[in-house]
Amino acid sequence: MDDDALRREIAEKLKSGLKTEVWPRAETSEQVNEVVARLQSEAGDNLEKKLVIAGFTDHVIEADGIEQPCETCMYYKVHARFCELPELMLPVEPDWSCRLWRI
Ligand code: SF4
Repeated sequence: MDDDALRREIAEKLKSGLKTEVWPRAETSEQVNEVVARLQSEAGDNLEKKLVIAGFTDHVIEADGIEQPCETCMYYKVHARFCELPELMLPVEPDWSCRLWRI
């Protein structure tokens, strides 16, 4: 499946109400490590589990007064519209969000 098709599949899952772990956001390094470890041990290559554990949303989430869109995340590759966090490696949209967002 190419990135555009996979991005559409993810969009469809999120739109149809897939319940993801949006909160708590991973704010401390311990929380980041915990979520990343779960992605490695529980999700692997399973797309839905990646989306659930990372807390994907198809809209921007604001935490502590800061908007957290993929667009401003350090893992986001602008031209490819792609998340390069090693445990995710997924095509995304700029206005999506996940709890591993980081500047
Ligand atoms: S890590 Fe960043 S770019 Fe990747 S899905 Fe989460 S917010 Fe988006």
